[in-house]
Amino acid sequence: MKLPYIIIIDDDTQVLRAIQRDIRNEYRDEYRIAATDSAMEALQLIKDLKLKNETVALFISDQRMPEMDGMTFLEKANEIFPAAKKILLTAYSDIEAAIKAINNVKLDYYLLKPWHPPEEKLFPVTNDLLGEWQALYKPDPDATRVIGFQWSPKTHRLKEFLSGNLVPYVWMDIENDPEADRYLTSANVTKSSLPLVVLKDSSILVDPSLTDLGARVGLRQKAAKDMYDVLIIGAGPAGLAASVYGSCEGLKTLLIERSNPGGQASSSARIENYLGFPTGLSGAELTRRAITQTLRFGTEILTPTEVQDISLTDGYKITKLADGSEVHCKTIVIATGVAYRKLEIPGLDSFTGAGVYYGSASVEAHACRGESVFIVGGGNSACQAAMYLSRFAKEVNIIIRRPALSETAANYLVENVRMTPNIKVIADTDVVGCSGTNFLESINLRNAKTGEEMSVPAKALFVYIGAKPSTEWLGDLVVKDSKGFILCGGEVLKDKSFDKFWKLKRDPYMPETSVPGIFASGDVRFGATPGISAAVGEGSMAIRFVRKYLQEV
Ligand SMILES: Cc1cc2nc3c(=O)[nH]c(=O)nc-3n(C[C@H](O)[C@H](O)[C@H](O)COP(=O)(O)OP(=O)(O)OC[C@H]3O[C@@H](n4cnc5c(N)ncnc54)[C@H](O)[C@@H]3O)c2cc1C
Repeated sequence: MKLPYIIIIDDDTQVLRAIQRDIRNEYRDEYRIAATDSAMEALQLIKDLKLKNETVALFISDQRMPEMDGMTFLEKANEIFPAAKKILLTAYSDIEAAIKAINNVKLDYYLLKPWHPPEEKLFPVTNDLLGEWQALYKPDPDATRVIGFQWSPKTHRLKEFLSGNLVPYVWMDIENDPEADRYLTSANVTKSSLPLVVLKDSSILVDPSLTDLGARVGLRQKAAKDMYDVLIIGAGPAGLAASVYGSCEGLKTLLIERSNPGGQASSSARIENYLGFPTGLSGAELTRRAITQTLRFGTEILTPTEVQDISLTDGYKITKLADGSEVHCKTIVIATGVAYRKLEIPGLDSFTGAGVYYGSASVEAHACRGESVFIVGGGNSACQAAMYLSRFAKEVNIIIRRPALSETAANYLVENVRMTPNIKVIADTDVVGCSGTNFLESINLRNAKTGEEMSVPAKALFVYIGAKPSTEWLGDLVVKDSKGFILCGGEVLKDKSFDKFWKLKRDPYMPETSVPGIFASGDVRFGATPGISAAVGEGSMAIRFVRKYLQEV
């Protein structure tokens, strides 16, 4: 297998030699390292590499260079190898330029000179970036393959599941990839049986369920222990944070997720407001890091496994899983978040996954190359999706009911959208109809002011119109508000029937529900501030009260 490249550019030959030496010492077994003192030469080199079908994983460029500054070089390099990570080498006086580059060239890091000792100042950064790059790069010729029709809902579900569970796979479109036919012949099936998954050991799964697929790619689905100190339901940011803190504090911790870890955050193309990541990071990357962290501390994860019921026996909690099995535990943290609201348009359901997507911009973006696509909704997630899709699609149209995006989205996102030439905002408008044969072909738009309707061709419609809490499965076990959000702490205390159901001498703890020892964190909690940081904070904090509860019983 050909090794990917790391390319270094600095006109100061002494600095160039020093960084080349450090990088070579650390990475020579996994990467080829090319270094030059000329930005023009570097550009020619990467054009040649592209022609030879080679890959670049990382660019490290000095900012101040006579022929071309580092920002300009990285911008041009980005057009040729958009997936490569980019580091700008700067002097202290260039920090302002470097911060500008975060937006302009999607810079991943700016590294202040000097970087000695490299073990402290250089390698932690390069290890992180190369790890992230490797997680998305799929050069393995024996990798799991998904073969199907691009616009098939079944295929979409498998792709979303694998990418959400961080299982690398190669996508093969039966209509555009001549090699894909070979697998149909091996499996002795016709196109009507698609999708297929070809596993690393060459065995073929025909249209598998997520549970079967999960088991075959090595995801755990059965609990290993008879009793857990804490069971966390939902592996979004709140659940993942709770699991890190639970395991880290030595509690026997089980985390159960019904689809793919990461929750809503996993479909975020770029999170820019999470503390400590000035250049932003994708939801997939945040999830990858969080899973690695929690597994390192010893958390057991079951996925895809749905919790369907909780019952109580002598203070212990018994949860029933979708496969009929039970898990016993002393405490529970419910972190089931919220699920996308459906766009209620006659006939639209049949196109889910076949042109209509709920929060899947990052999974389907490549299929939108050169197309005109539509987004419904004007919140932050809709704007983020638009920004991401604009890198692939010819045109991205955001459809909003209100007159302006500024009424519903954060300032910085409104500004980013405004400055992106291929994003158009269609204001005062509702989507009222759709049509197509096997996949979405057009949508009907109605102007809310004039009532005028028109049909526009649409191959993809991404829906971001809010969400409702995932708590129906809980029945009446805990007290909820009229929309289904779970009441905790002081809110439980305010309930009219509090004295009837609460028998302890103490009041419910801040994140505790109306059942002692059952806690709720993140978006699912009544009154929570939606967002990743808040969910992470709440999940981490819940464990403190889990411990207090465990000391009492
Ligand atoms: C596209 C998009 C982009 C976003 N971008 C940002 C951003 O940039 N910054 C920001 O701060 N916020 C962002 N958000 C919001 C943020 O992602 C959420 O506020 C956050 O994920 C909430 O975390 P949570 O853990 O409470 O719930 P969720 O993320 O909703 O996770 C809940 C998890 O529980 C699982 N689950 C539900 N029921 C069950 C069950 N019965 N059994 C097992 N598992 C179950 C679900 O499958 C899910 O994985 C974005 C949201 C979206 C949709």
